[in-house]
Amino acid sequence: MTVSSPIMLGLIGSLIAGSMTAVGATPVLFGRVPSRAIRDLSLGFAAGVMLSASFFSLIVPALDAAEIRYGNAVTPAGIVCIAILLGMGAVALLNNRLPHEHFRTGREGPESVSLRRVWLFIIAITIHNFPEGLAVGVGFGSGGINGGLPLAIGIGLQNMPEGLAVAVSLLGEGYSRRRSWTIAALTGMVEPVGGMLGAGIITVSEPLLPWGLAFAAGAMLYVISHEIIPETHRRGHQDKATLGLSVGLVLMLFLDVSLG
Ligand SMILES: [Zn+2]
Repeated sequence: MTVSSPIMLGLIGSLIAGSMTAVGATPVLFGRVPSRAIRDLSLGFAAGVMLSASFFSLIVPALDAAEIRYGNAVTPAGIVCIAILLGMGAVALLNNRLPHEHFRTGREGPESVSLRRVWLFIIAITIHNFPEGLAVGVGFGSGGINGGLPLAIGIGLQNMPEGLAVAVSLLGEGYSRRRSWTIAALTGMVEPVGGMLGAGIITVSEPLLPWGLAFAAGAMLYVISHEIIPETHRRGHQDKATLGLSVGLVLMLFLDVSLG
C-alpha cells in the first residue's frame, strides 16, 4: 500500500485530526484550565464546525453522489433523509444502551450524579468521533487529497475544544492531570478507526457513498443537539456559545468551499 492510496490517506488524515483531541487537552497536564466562559465559547465553535461539516462536507456531497447514480432528485433526497435519520437513531440507541454505571464504582452519594453526567458526555464525544473519522476517511476515499483535506482540518480544529472539555470535566471530578489527559486523548483515537473504515468502504463499494456520508452527518447532528449545545448553555454563557458557533460555522463553510 502506498502513502497516496485512499485508505492510507484516510488513515493518516483521521489520525492527525483525532490527535488534535490530545493537543487540545494539553493545558490540563500543566494544571492550567481556561475559564468556563472560554471553554463554552470554544465548544460552541466546535458545534458550529460540526454543523457546517454535516451539511457542506457530508449532506451536499451525499446528494451529489446519489444524483450522479440515480439521475433524478427524488431518490437522492429520500436516500439522504433516511440515512440521516438512521445515523441519528444509531447514536441515540448507543447512548441509551451503553453501560455507564460501572465507571462510578466506589463512588456513592451526590457526587455520583455529576460523575455519571461527565461519563455520559465522554461517551457521547467518543461515539461521535467515530462518524467524524468516517467522514474524513470517506472524504479522502472519494475525493483524494482535495476531498479529505478541508474535513481533516475542520474536524481536527473542533477536536481541540472537545478534548479540553473532556479533560477538564474529569479533572473537576478528581481525576489526576495525567489520567484526565490520557482519557481525553483516547476519545480521539476512535477517529483513525472510523477513517480507515470510511476510506475502505468507499473504495470497495461506491453505491454506499451517499448512505455513508449522510449517516455520518446524522450521527454528528444528534451529538450537536443532544450533548454539545446543551453543555455550552448550562452555565449562563449562551451568548459566547452562540458567537463561537457562528464563527465555527462560517469558518468550516469557507474551508470546505475554498479547499474542496
Ligand atoms: Zn466533534
